[in-house]
This record gives sequence, structure tokens and C-alpha cells, in this order.
Amino acid sequence: MRLVFMGPPGAGKGTQAKAVAKRYDIPHVSSGDIFRAEIAGETDLGKQIKQYLDTGALVPDEITVRAVVDRLQADDCQGGWLLDGFPRTEPQARALDEALEANNEQLNAVVNLAVGAEVIVRRMSGRRVCPTCGRTYHVERIPPKVEGKCDACGAELIIRDDDKPETVRQRLGTYERATAPLIDYYDQRGLLLRVDGSGTPDEVRRRIFEQLDSEVQDG
Ligand code: ADP
Ligand code: ADP
Ligand code: ZN
Repeated sequence: MRLVFMGPPGAGKGTQAKAVAKRYDIPHVSSGDIFRAEIAGETDLGKQIKQYLDTGALVPDEITVRAVVDRLQADDCQGGWLLDGFPRTEPQARALDEALEANNEQLNAVVNLAVGAEVIVRRMSGRRVCPTCGRTYHVERIPPKVEGKCDACGAELIIRDDDKPETVRQRLGTYERATAPLIDYYDQRGLLLRVDGSGTPDEVRRRIFEQLDSEVQDG
């Protein structure tokens, strides 16, 4: 199974992608997680890309494609994967197509999580993340059992630097300009599954599973 998850920042991609990856037993490959790990590790790549994440701009295509395509070469990705947050531009989508073609592989589906602007802002402004294990919470909708602490590892939850209101506005603009056109790109290739991303995480998950399961049966 080779899947792409698309949708505006804060739509719930990461939350749903983790559940879907588990169900189909494929690795969850998030470009944002890859970049944040490089920044946290203070690697050369991390130093190069920090300014982009801090300002809510996209990391240049060349750097992004190399980082993600490298990750897809790893052993655990040979039986399939779920890409979350990549591709985000048309050149990235073309680079992915080429990488797939070179291996004689194909995408099974692209899930587009659709949510309105108001919901996005509410979800992103309440987002809290665990800096240690990467779990994501929401202060009102998906709170941890103990306030401010990760259920899984007990670490102190943080607000992502780029979830402050100015950066969120910037990221939404970037999404509309650079990423939203990919909806048509994948629709034209017959790969797009439109999923309503509103409602509770369980409701959204059921909608995704329904669509993907029938996709898998149809071949
Ligand atoms: P969100 O989950 O809120 O959409 P991500 O964690 O996917 O955010 O991405 C965080 C940041 O990482 C982006 O704002 C951007 O700077 C960078 N980034 C992630 N994926 C890509 C990509 N495919 N192309 C360019 N930049 C990216
Ligand atoms: P993305 O990866 O698209 O940026 P996340 O999965 O990180 O989005 O979700 C953004 C925020 O919204 C997080 O705080 C998450 O806990 C919360 N969230 C995710 N799905 C839902 C939902 N269905 N209802 C309410 N909050 C949600
Ligand atoms: Zn944790």
C-alpha cells in the first residue's frame, strides 16, 4: 500500500495518518517529522532548514525531495508507506512520480482531508506535542490524561514554534498557493479520495477506512 495524505496544516493529517499506517502495517513517513528531527539533532541539514520552518515557508523542493526519497529507500519502506505532508508542490509531486516509476511502483491513493478555515485555526491553536515521542494532543478535544504531560512517556508537552498565529497565517497562505493545486493534479490521475475531515477523530477515521478499504478491494 502506497498512500499520500494531503490537506491544509492542522487538518488532522498526522493524527489520522498514524492510525492508517498501523492498520495497513506500513511506516508513517512525515516530512515535517523528518525536518523537526534534523533540527532537534542540530545536523547540517537541520541548520539549513530551520529558518524555513520558523517562518512557515516551504523548505526548497530540492532539499525536501532528497530527504523524503532517501527515507523511502530504507528497508522498512519496501513493502509500502504512507506519506504525510509530502508532496506539497507540483515539482515534488513530479519527483515522486519519477521515483515510483524508476522502481516500477504506483501510488494506491491520495487522501485529501478537507476541513474549513475556522476548524483549522481552532485545531492548530490548541495543538500540543510531545517533544520526546512525537504524540499530538489538543487542549480541548484530545487532552492528555494529566494536564500538560504526555500519556505515553510523561514528558512535558510543548506548543510547536510554528503554531503561533502569525506563522499559522503564513502557512495557510502557502498551502493555498503551492499545495492546493495538487488536488487537481491527483484528481486528474484518478487517485484522489476526498474525505470530510470535520467531526471527531473517530468519525474521520471511519470515513477514511471505509474509502480506503473499498479502494483496496477494487484493486
Ligand atoms: P502540518 O502538519 O501542520 O501541516 P508539517 O509538520 O507537515 O506541518 O510541516 C511543518 C513545516 O515543515 C512546514 O511548514 C514546512 O516548513 C516544512 N515542510 C514539511 N513538509 C514539507 C514539504 N513537503 N515541502 C516543503 N516544506 C515542508
Ligand atoms: P496536521 O498533521 O494536519 O497538521 P494534526 O494531526 O497535528 O494535523 O492535528 C492538528 C491538531 O488538531 C492537533 O492538536 C490534533 O490533536 C487536533 N485534531 C486532530 N484531529 C482532530 C479532530 N477530528 N477533532 C478535533 N481535533 C483534532
Ligand atoms: Zn511522549
